[in-house]
Amino acid sequence: MMREDSAPTELVIRQAHILDPGSGLDGVMDVRLSSGRISEVGEGLHGPRELDAEGLHLFPGFVDVHAHWRTPGREDEEDIESGSAAAAAGGFTGVVMMPNTDPVVDRPVMVSGLVRRVERESRVRARVSAALHVGLAGERLTEMRLLKEAGAFCVSDDGLGTASAGVLRNGMLYAHSAGLPVFLHCEDHTLATGVVHDGVAASLAGLPGSPASAEDAATATALILAAETGAKVHITHVSTALSAALVGFFKERADVTADTTPHHLTLTDDLVSTLEGLYRVNPPLRPDGDRGGVEAALREGILDFVATDHAPHASEEKELPMEEAAPGFLGHETAFAALYTDLVLTGRLSLTRLVETMSCAPGEWVGEGGSLRIGAPADLTLVDLSEEWTVGRETLISRSSNSPYLGRTLTGRVVGTIVGGEPVHDRTGARFGVRA
Ligand SMILES: [Zn+2]
Ligand SMILES: [Zn+2]
Repeated sequence: MMREDSAPTELVIRQAHILDPGSGLDGVMDVRLSSGRISEVGEGLHGPRELDAEGLHLFPGFVDVHAHWRTPGREDEEDIESGSAAAAAGGFTGVVMMPNTDPVVDRPVMVSGLVRRVERESRVRARVSAALHVGLAGERLTEMRLLKEAGAFCVSDDGLGTASAGVLRNGMLYAHSAGLPVFLHCEDHTLATGVVHDGVAASLAGLPGSPASAEDAATATALILAAETGAKVHITHVSTALSAALVGFFKERADVTADTTPHHLTLTDDLVSTLEGLYRVNPPLRPDGDRGGVEAALREGILDFVATDHAPHASEEKELPMEEAAPGFLGHETAFAALYTDLVLTGRLSLTRLVETMSCAPGEWVGEGGSLRIGAPADLTLVDLSEEWTVGRETLISRSSNSPYLGRTLTGRVVGTIVGGEPVHDRTGARFGVRA
């Protein structure tokens, strides 16, 4: 990463409210970062460089296992530089990049090329997901052992194709033997034929709907195959109450984890009535019964963590009627604030559980980050929980502006992000004016 050629440094962050459920930290303390790692947490710490963080909260850096940075192929929408800047602005210190680029990341040479580019161009730690099947076409499996050797972190079918059960089963067996987690977008395309959730809102708007069963049937299939093959499987963007319950049923029966998104936790298919293509996303926004079921599952630990599915799109692909618009939302920059505003401030989710689901649990899944224990990488985020801000095109660092929260006033804002002990985001440009 960019910072690694800089000299080893030390920084003491003073008087932040440190919250790391994984390390049992919750209180106003100081933290010392030395040579890119957490070296000391306590009171009355001082050093040659100090950062006054009084009034701010300090969390382990957020980790987002689901991002589309559009490199290669659609750098007009996002690239590694802009995507990682948006991630850092949202407090994320680690990301997993999805393979549905143009071309699809399905060959070892593409993986190794992306790994090299990430080292040069990304502000945050970024891992490369390779495709589960060639071209994400759902037919021929990729060469997973070679993809892993080239640096792939996992294999995924996200963004384009869900394979048949037979192909998926073989893919899980191959991935399992190659030592790669399988990251799945569960939607059965023979059922997901609409553009929004198939419910009352779709009927009133006269739009073709995809039933919840499109997700539920694919999720059940994936879970059954995970249990049978023993593969390490992650189900992303769970959006229905039934899919969440199915994950719960298989928790003890398979090596399975699952996430849901900020938008499925905070928005519903009421937005279909706007007819605006901005609100098209896969899986679609659901009725409040599903939203609430997913929220309960996250609260109870059935769903392991939150991932944003950050999916930038050019305005000419979003400012269209629902049926013609590209599916997907920006996610990095609004994730914490949307969840803090809608779930924590309303008393539906504790701040501790939010930090577990944005930092600790996804950090554990990727095997690095999400912890402030002594010796861990100095990846952390500083947040002002009292700041109110209105999401607008001018506030977004992403190259695209397809945020479903545009115009919404949210509470809680990331003011600084540190990766490996070095600032990668400093919103005001003042906070990191470190005192000598
Ligand atoms: Zn997806
Ligand atoms: Zn995605």
